[in-house]
Amino acid sequence: MEFLVTIESTPSVFADRHIGARRQADIDTMLKAVGYDSVDSLVDTAVPASIRQSSPLQLQAALGEVEVLDALRVLSKKNIPAVQLIGQGYYSAVTPAVIRRNVLEAPAWYTAYTPYQPEISQGRLEALLNFQTMVSDLTALPIANASLLDEATAVAEAVLLMRRANKSKTAVNAKTVLDSDLLPQTIAVVMGRAEALGFEVEIADLSLGLPEGDINGIVLQQPGVSGRVFNHAQVIAAAKEKGALVTVAADLLALTLITPPGEQGADIAVGSAQRFGVPLFFGGPHAAYMAVRPGLERSLPGRIVGVSVDNTGLPAYRLALQTREQHIRREKATSNICTAQALLAIVASMYAVFHGPAGLKAIAETVHHHARTLAGALAASGVEVLHASFFDTVTVRVPGRAKALIGVAESRGINLRVIDADHVGISLDETTTADIVARVADVFGAAPAGDGDDHAGASFALATDTVRTSDFLTHPVFNSHRSETQILRYIRKLSDRDLALDRTMIPLGSCTMKLNATAEMEAISWPEFASIHPFAPDSQTEGWRLLIADLEADLCEITGYDQVSTQPNAGSQGELAGLLAIRGYHLSRGDAQRTVCLIPGSAHGTNAASAVLAGMKVVVVGTAADGSIDRADLDAKIETHKSQLSAIMITYPSTHGVFDADVTEVCDAVHAAGGQVYVDGANLNALVGLAQPGKFGGDVSHLNLHKTFCIPHGGGGPGVGPVAAKSHLAPFMPGDANATVGNGAGEPAASTGVPISGSRFGSAGVLPISWAYVKLMGGKGLTEATKSALLAANYIASRLNDYFPVLYTGAGDLVAHECILDLRELTSRTGVSAEDVAKRLIDYGFHAPTLSFPVVGTLMVEPTESEDLGEIDRFITAMISIRHEIDQIAAGEFTLADSPLHNAPHTAAAVINSAWDRGYTREQAAFPLDALRQDKYFPPVGRIDGATGDRNLVCSCPPLEAFEDPTESFEN
Ligand SMILES: *Cc1c(COP(=O)(O)O)cnc(C)c1O
Repeated sequence: MEFLVTIESTPSVFADRHIGARRQADIDTMLKAVGYDSVDSLVDTAVPASIRQSSPLQLQAALGEVEVLDALRVLSKKNIPAVQLIGQGYYSAVTPAVIRRNVLEAPAWYTAYTPYQPEISQGRLEALLNFQTMVSDLTALPIANASLLDEATAVAEAVLLMRRANKSKTAVNAKTVLDSDLLPQTIAVVMGRAEALGFEVEIADLSLGLPEGDINGIVLQQPGVSGRVFNHAQVIAAAKEKGALVTVAADLLALTLITPPGEQGADIAVGSAQRFGVPLFFGGPHAAYMAVRPGLERSLPGRIVGVSVDNTGLPAYRLALQTREQHIRREKATSNICTAQALLAIVASMYAVFHGPAGLKAIAETVHHHARTLAGALAASGVEVLHASFFDTVTVRVPGRAKALIGVAESRGINLRVIDADHVGISLDETTTADIVARVADVFGAAPAGDGDDHAGASFALATDTVRTSDFLTHPVFNSHRSETQILRYIRKLSDRDLALDRTMIPLGSCTMKLNATAEMEAISWPEFASIHPFAPDSQTEGWRLLIADLEADLCEITGYDQVSTQPNAGSQGELAGLLAIRGYHLSRGDAQRTVCLIPGSAHGTNAASAVLAGMKVVVVGTAADGSIDRADLDAKIETHKSQLSAIMITYPSTHGVFDADVTEVCDAVHAAGGQVYVDGANLNALVGLAQPGKFGGDVSHLNLHKTFCIPHGGGGPGVGPVAAKSHLAPFMPGDANATVGNGAGEPAASTGVPISGSRFGSAGVLPISWAYVKLMGGKGLTEATKSALLAANYIASRLNDYFPVLYTGAGDLVAHECILDLRELTSRTGVSAEDVAKRLIDYGFHAPTLSFPVVGTLMVEPTESEDLGEIDRFITAMISIRHEIDQIAAGEFTLADSPLHNAPHTAAAVINSAWDRGYTREQAAFPLDALRQDKYFPPVGRIDGATGDRNLVCSCPPLEAFEDPTESFEN
């Protein structure tokens, strides 16, 4: 594709900023340690010649920061912001500036990793616990998770939860019933999932009662997509009478005024927290939520933050019930979701903390008031308003005139929802003013009654049996931060408790925690990008679509595939999309029996969980002694399952951090048996510019833009997991969930495949980050980044091998972009576990490497290209110092139980304590290296006991006394 914006490019220095080790002297130091005299000779040895790409990347020459921002400005101006009244699950919202700048745009929040190391994550864990409490209170269901991906996929997860949980004889194989007033994109996503798993879904108007036959579960929406607020009590009771479970998709803002699902007997509530301060973002990222009644918590997908205690008995937060997750349970997991939407959940929670219950209710009442005023005006002028009881959405019947009226509105800068030729939907929101109400009314030839005369809307009051009477958000945290000074300090206090990439390297293998450059982040909150509704007419979204098409084209060039879809909003979703494409392909060839998916035992847990969701049967392939795929086992499994073989999922370079030399032979063997090759591309940071999965044997891959392509991890999301495929799979790439309804988007969907999320481009809002990264680096810079990542990993492996043996190496004893440090021998000799080392690293100011994945008892280190030699050496020095501490235990200088390792991490309170009586000094506890004396990070809590918290699950804000924090004040 030709470049879209013509700007002269001058030589860019951005790669020098992005890559940490750029000075020749540093590179030489690293090369010397590894034993090579040039980066190229190291790379040529490490990367098998059989997979190397033959020519350099054909991308546009690198642009400078100023030029890239200019180009983004030009693209953004091709989007036309409008008054967005389309609704359908997406509403304009005000992001309070204090939250935008200090959370959404603050590196302390957006560069954090998923809180698997809870001692350095107490701030974001508290914010996520606030999110759970907010969801739980508003839905009146006690157990909420810390976010899901989007509303449509959250409903799909709820349907699957009901099918897992409802084991009664009549229900287990019975159909799932969706109310016809659900969001159309939700229905499309659920139908796609159901088709792959082979269960029946019926769509029915549940306001008329339940359909005939056995039912596994029903899904209702409150308010419905039509805007109607309907008392669900009766249909919920009838469903439960029949042994069905009940899910209600509910709007959190509406729930401040409307009876919550939990009070009506629902088992599950799901929905989107978008309108709590998160921009439209052309469809995402937005945090979806799910809450359940007691008894369903172990089936709940996604992460749950819970309260436990640390080693001194202090309350402390950590992720609870992780044994449900895919990284433990693999094909038996509750869901394949790994990366979710933590950052957006935190924004939504801060919005609730800032506004409080009264503020939220006031916002909801204003929205409702405007909607009633509009309905009153329209009805008074003879326009038929469909429902008498609604919250924010008015559906009108205008026989034969819908298209014309929407055209008029559009010409006046207002987007309304096309329902069909006769119906128009109008959804108001927090940004709606009386002037906007008047302008909308005028489109229909109506005029609102003057001020002080709301009686025109009087007949549109919420039905009394749907009005909420219970309190919500009564916890002090939602009632203590009304002034901007207070919220600013609260945000800062929480982020100061955490270690994110803005303070230290995060050497997490498989997670590629690299620089998220500020220039890359700049554009995401520009209104011309952020305020665009995903279902806005094409004429208003040209800039977005150009940017996305250009990024997709660049990703095709980088991966060697023919087609890319950015719709999947996490790696796990890309996996599912890719496997569904393979499934569609086999079905199209009459090969319905091809359902076996081979997965190496070392694969990421999402692989197995995704295969199950794609209706496949997982067969595990063994690992050889050197960490590569066991060829004999592979051949045997291929032979056994020959006629049923659907696919193999391989990660390349493997999760062992090594370039397997025979990957092309593995691909050939699978192809020869009629199978397809899925290459998990999460490790693409080791390949960009050097090798293309689409050229060395892959049929389809997902990439993690939140790893290799610089979208920040956000403390557990957002992510983007584009699926990339060869042309024979193109017809099965993700379709548009909204294509079947007249949405005004006009353009036909790019493919007829199963939709994988609710909006066509998924988490479009963060794509400018990856677009900017590719443009800033150019093909040469990207390739240099890959080489630097390989050099840095090999430098660490060489330097640490004598202290912690590197488990797997490939050609020339080299690793790829990460290395596994094996602690098992040390553990058996001294009792010091890999976890002890991970926790002790906190005392040295580091976030631990990946713990016990893919091999239990090991640490997997991935430095990325962004770390400079000084920071890498700081890490190496810490690890060597820790090794000496292990030796002190071996030498009997102190016992394991009384060692700095076992007692790590050390809080300030633990060290500054007159009763100190340990076998090692306080200095060794807190300042094991002199350099720590100046910039010391103290974790707010000591080692956390996860098991206690799981036995006694507390997953909403605990009473304040638990913490006795004098800085909190309760003003009510
Ligand atoms: C991160 C990762 C995934 C999952 O990606 P998410 O975005 O977290 O869903 C899958 N496979 C591998 C190898 C990974 O490292």
